[in-house]
Amino acid sequence: MIAKIPGSVVPDEWIVRGNHHDAWVNGAEDPVSGQAPLLAEPRAMGILLKQGWKPRRTIIYAAWDGEEPMLLGSTEWAEQHAEELQKHAAVYINTDGNDRGLLSMGGSHTLEQFINGVARDIEDPETKLSVWQRLQLSKIAQAKSADDRKELRQRGDLRINALGSGTDFTTFLDHLGIASLDLGYEGEDEQGIYHSIYDDFYWYTHFSDYDFIYGRALSQTVGTSVMRLADAEVLPFDFVDFADTIQKYTKDLEKLLADKQEEIRERNQELEEGVFKATLDPRRPTVAPAHEEVPPHLNFAPMQNAADSLARSAEHYRSALSHQQPTLDATQMESLRAVNQQLIESERKLTKEDGLPRRPWYKHLLYAPGVYSGYEVKTVPGVREGIELKHYAEAEQEIVRVAKALQDESELIESAARILSQTSLGQTKP
Ligand SMILES: [Zn+2]
Repeated sequence: MIAKIPGSVVPDEWIVRGNHHDAWVNGAEDPVSGQAPLLAEPRAMGILLKQGWKPRRTIIYAAWDGEEPMLLGSTEWAEQHAEELQKHAAVYINTDGNDRGLLSMGGSHTLEQFINGVARDIEDPETKLSVWQRLQLSKIAQAKSADDRKELRQRGDLRINALGSGTDFTTFLDHLGIASLDLGYEGEDEQGIYHSIYDDFYWYTHFSDYDFIYGRALSQTVGTSVMRLADAEVLPFDFVDFADTIQKYTKDLEKLLADKQEEIRERNQELEEGVFKATLDPRRPTVAPAHEEVPPHLNFAPMQNAADSLARSAEHYRSALSHQQPTLDATQMESLRAVNQQLIESERKLTKEDGLPRRPWYKHLLYAPGVYSGYEVKTVPGVREGIELKHYAEAEQEIVRVAKALQDESELIESAARILSQTSLGQTKP
């Protein structure tokens, strides 16, 4: 089921929001605890519309069918409308069920700053802290190292999770390259009912969010996100956090390879030393691992260079955006459209038409579910899985392909920054 509020200024820029409505069995938690808050959002927007509110952009609400059998509803719809979506859709926001507890934020890192901003403005119904602050403090409590705690205290925004699969954002993000978010509250309810007959109204109203206060918080979180995205003059994408994430991913991949080299080198040495023979219990015989070629060094320089130029453009864009400009004349309105068009395309730049190795439907070069990991995400999947699956030549090619996409992204950001500063077009409202 699809509902639409047409935009009043730029109807051809779309914000899409969805949650599925089909269930494995009863489905009080999965999906109705997300679907009910979804329905509350356009109901509130309906009241605002009657009071005269007119969103700048078009807002599209979707209640997906057939999610449980392989995301059928959202996939068919998004494939059917692929061309229009790629032209017009700025952001897709997904939820899929909701519990009590902490806000879980996943999505495109170009929206990391944006969703952190929303989370700072939503009150946690139990502690009355902002949901952002509650999340930050609980992450500090769970952090494993002093470095992690330092980052949580000092980095302005909390890192959001990269998205794998398992719910309806998959086609939007992985196949079409539309910047996406996946949100929900979690962590404080009893588990064990997932996809079973016990996921019913009785369970939900006795053991989960029984007074629906987190349902309201989810509506507030996503409704606020949709309205801000729909009304912002300049779409609230930011690339500083994104560039920082790319630097981190590059280091993660270098470490992945270095650890693998070290592991194999050490094992080979132990085989030569006779460690396995010496420690073998003849009454419980095992087979020693085979001698293995130590993985070659890979050239990460293209990705490192791309990450550096991304960081520079991201700073240029942020500073161009910070110049205030109270009113816009006609030329500036035209420039505004051009900048927003580039922002809409910024996620598409991270995709390649021929897709990932051996799975061309997955076109995003930074996020995908793993080939063998189910729903779980693999970041920079072409390179990462190349290393993990010992396709080293392929990993080397993928580094070049990812670096090229990041260089293109960096040029796009640079060009958007140029338009902003040439027309002294800054964000007029936060
Ligand atoms: Zn679900």
